[in-house]
Amino acid sequence: MQRSSKNRQSILECLRGTKEHPSAEWIYGQIKPKHPNLSLATVYRNLNQLKAEGLVRSMGSVDGQERFDADMTPHAHAICARCGKITDVAGVHFPEELAEQVAAATGYEIRRQDLQFSGICEECLKRSAQ
Ligand code: ZN
Ligand code: MN
Repeated sequence: MQRSSKNRQSILECLRGTKEHPSAEWIYGQIKPKHPNLSLATVYRNLNQLKAEGLVRSMGSVDGQERFDADMTPHAHAICARCGKITDVAGVHFPEELAEQVAAATGYEIRRQDLQFSGICEECLKRSAQ
């Protein structure tokens, strides 16, 4: 296997193996020990390619860092405004008729819909109650 495709595979496996919804820097830190020649720029480039191919989705920027998810099944997210934690919300997603309404209202062919909630996570709530 070429080094470039090995890098790509490791990045994808790292992302598929975590629930952290991590940043490129986090992924880099995880796989760098096994890939001494890896650069952060390579991680970014691969993530952008995987995103374009629909294998990875961007969660947008949290505290100034783009975060990623390799779980492409429909699910909502709760994001902590204090610590930046991103939590999967299983079983909660947009009803199908909402996409149809948006398509009818705009003429768009809807390809993706994201449902994100912002709030304070349980751990941060406990910490602030102490
Ligand atoms: Zn938190
Ligand atoms: Mn997720």
